[in-house]
Amino acid sequence: MDDERVKRIINRERAARKESERLLESKSSELYEINQNLEKLVLERTNKLSNALKEAELAMKVKDEFLSNMSHEIRTPLNAIIGFVQIMMKSTYNEKSFFKHLSIVNSSSKNLLQIINDILDFSKLQSGKFTISLVNIDLKAKLEHTFSLFSQEAEAKSLYYELFFSDDFPKYLLVDETRIVQILSNFISNAIKFTPVGKVILVNVGYDHKTSKLKIEVQDTGIGIDEEAKAKIFNSFEQEDASVTRKFGGTGLGLAISKQLIELMDGTIIFESTKGSGSTFGFEMSVETGGDVEVIEEKSKEEEHGYKGKVLIAEDNEMSAILMETLMEGFEVEFEIVADGELAVEAVKSNDYAFVFMDNQMPKLSGIEATKCIRTFNTDIPIVALSANALKTEQEEFLSAGMNDTLSKPVNQEDLKLMLDKYLK
Ligand code: ADP
Repeated sequence: MDDERVKRIINRERAARKESERLLESKSSELYEINQNLEKLVLERTNKLSNALKEAELAMKVKDEFLSNMSHEIRTPLNAIIGFVQIMMKSTYNEKSFFKHLSIVNSSSKNLLQIINDILDFSKLQSGKFTISLVNIDLKAKLEHTFSLFSQEAEAKSLYYELFFSDDFPKYLLVDETRIVQILSNFISNAIKFTPVGKVILVNVGYDHKTSKLKIEVQDTGIGIDEEAKAKIFNSFEQEDASVTRKFGGTGLGLAISKQLIELMDGTIIFESTKGSGSTFGFEMSVETGGDVEVIEEKSKEEEHGYKGKVLIAEDNEMSAILMETLMEGFEVEFEIVADGELAVEAVKSNDYAFVFMDNQMPKLSGIEATKCIRTFNTDIPIVALSANALKTEQEEFLSAGMNDTLSKPVNQEDLKLMLDKYLK
């Protein structure tokens, strides 16, 4: 081979090697980049997973704490109810303490009911099923009444407890009174709970005619809230003091519900607090003034008891039946109790009843089934559901089955009277 040829071959070889080295280099840098990206991706995914895990663990912890709180909150009043009832049933019971013990049983039962209502409201709010309904009412009278419901509690702690209205507070406002009362009750009961003996609670209610804004504030000089807890107390299930040996009871749902209700009504929350000096909880929202409402004249005593016709009560639970019997004895009206849906249908068919209180979960025919059946031959008789199914969807089912109204258990004499006044006069 001549030299020239050898050189050419060597050069070609070198060029080929260089090219393959360049290719290798570029491939390996590509590979390096891919690897880097992969590592980044894996890291990102790992972080995301670990955050999700942390969030899930936190949610579980919050739920666990909530359940343990709930259990505690339910057991505490139950303990008082069961304990005092047992004491009162003893033959050696000292009747001197009868009213004191009975009032503990009464307030403990109301406590229990509040917890159940809170849980129901909270789950309804969570699922977006909550609606606001505006009614033209004398809000001042309503708020005065709500305020007065807590005056005994405030008095028992010797608190200075006052309610103030701005001078030109309108007589009628278009508001969702139930929700406003619910929020105010939450703020006042917290203020009383977290304010030590002898301190001050002021409830200020104002209406600005220029901006159409209603403002309600509950100020207390109680224990206040520290900076760290301020961020949490409006969260569901959270309380400032999460320890097992919490000094004050409560489910930690009240403020979360109030906040969501205020937002649902397009209002803004007012909240200020200083640890050791006190807190202010309130809200401001646009509210239209309403027109005058026709005043319904008070009925005389004779008119009050003038119920026309016989009442049928369909109730299978023995305890509830005894309770209904005792409550109904307070009215001057004839009544009869039947223990299932089938008997209710038969009774309406064969007797001259003018009104029905209908339980739902009963043997043979449920209240809904019995009502549907009654409506095939009697479209006029007023039927009012009296059931422990308190959810709005369940209440709607009662109405669409043909019932005229609904009451949820527990009921009191006032609730029954309202219905009898409405349908049996
Ligand atoms: P709870 O039923 O536990 O009172 P809330 O949601 O109403 O639930 O309140 C949550 C927490 O906020 C309370 O446990 C308490 O720590 C704090 N808090 C609420 N109102 C006040 C107040 N007026 N003064 C001091 N702390 C308060």
